[in-house]
Amino acid sequence: MKFDYDIIVVGAGPAGSTAARYAASGGAKVLMLEKDRDVGYPVRCGEAVSHEGVVQFIKPDPKWIASTVTKFRLVAPNGKSVVPKLDGSGYVLERRIFDYELAKLAANEGAEVITKAYVYDLLREDGKIVGVKTLIKDKQTEIRAKVIIAADGVESRVGKWAGIDTTCHIKDMESCAQMTLSGIHMDEDILEFYFGDNVSPGGYLWVFPKGNGTANVGIGLSVEAAKKKSAIRFLQEFVDKKYPHAAMLTHIAGGVPCAKTNSEIVKGNVILVGDAAHQVNPVSGGGIISGMIGGMIGGQVAAETVQRGDLMHLQEYARQWQKRLGWRHEIFYNIKEAISGFHDETLNDICNSALQIPEEKRSLGGIFRAALWNKPSLILDVAKVFVS
Ligand SMILES: Cc1cc2nc3c(=O)[nH]c(=O)nc-3n(C[C@H](O)[C@H](O)[C@H](O)COP(=O)(O)OP(=O)(O)OC[C@H]3O[C@@H](n4cnc5c(N)ncnc54)[C@H](O)[C@@H]3O)c2cc1C
Repeated sequence: MKFDYDIIVVGAGPAGSTAARYAASGGAKVLMLEKDRDVGYPVRCGEAVSHEGVVQFIKPDPKWIASTVTKFRLVAPNGKSVVPKLDGSGYVLERRIFDYELAKLAANEGAEVITKAYVYDLLREDGKIVGVKTLIKDKQTEIRAKVIIAADGVESRVGKWAGIDTTCHIKDMESCAQMTLSGIHMDEDILEFYFGDNVSPGGYLWVFPKGNGTANVGIGLSVEAAKKKSAIRFLQEFVDKKYPHAAMLTHIAGGVPCAKTNSEIVKGNVILVGDAAHQVNPVSGGGIISGMIGGMIGGQVAAETVQRGDLMHLQEYARQWQKRLGWRHEIFYNIKEAISGFHDETLNDICNSALQIPEEKRSLGGIFRAALWNKPSLILDVAKVFVS
């Protein structure tokens, strides 16, 4: 059978571009298809990443860094706050440019990229998946490839078409809303997180600075909680109170799968990476770097698979992902389960305990130990994390 490409990547988000880059550098002939006209737009993200995470893939560049952050502030329901001591730093990105740069890195390795290319089905012959059906600039086109990498985000359909159950349980799907506000006063080097039943029950609200009085102000809460009051209403109330005179530049809504990695991420000649595979950190909801790690491993293994001509080798992707991050996400998931049930009183107690620690010792570990000391019942919650 004649193939047009070795590998087709569906979706040019961080996971897709990274998969395409590593697949191409591994010697495969790669095509990446993106349904939107521009890579990186529209942006549906708070855009925060750690320096440590990013530098694995790309040298930090001021053109896609909106601000550099060195601290984060945790605000308890009673308004008291704690700023843990941090070793590293992070960035609030301009994802429009960042995603674009990642796609360029893939192209520089030889991957072809087509935008305004909507993949609407998988191409099958004799029951086997042999490529994709796509609308390229509104023209129906069939493209053949040996391996398909589904990097089509949280609403992924490619996996489902391949027969993989990609349903995220409703209790693990975070409902998110975000506004980019301008004309506000805030510390420009600090990420802020607000907790509490009145602010974001079971989740958190964030204020991430983007420089020059601009910030991403967003909220993530469980779909269950959002049924009683929507994420956008919680957010609007916060903004009205805290930034009544702000100008709203953008507003977005979206879901984040704060779950364990999908139980199946490889089937036949199809693999899932990034949000499509639920590779998001279940505690923070951050999925940019973890999706890129999934994309990198997926791209590398897909290229090796093509070279060996042995589809069974694709299973190596699932093994390597589990070894690198999957096992950690399972622990984070259990931690999320424990802390999302904390009531305001517990959160206030933890904050009070943390404030009693001398500032120079106020690391995250120190705060955690103090919380356990002052609130022994937390030990039970933590124990649950490890036994469930
Ligand atoms: C409100 C909000 C705030 C967030 N904040 C953060 C944060 O601060 N830090 C962080 O690390 N993470 C954050 N996340 C999560 C993060 O945005 C995602 O985890 C990340 O974008 C996942 O990358 P991805 O490449 O898997 O998917 P995406 O970035 O969603 O990319 C998928 C791509 O596939 C394309 N596509 C989809 N279907 C098709 C198709 N059929 N044919 C062709 N193309 C298709 C889409 O157009 C898109 O470009 C946030 C998410 C939300 C919703």
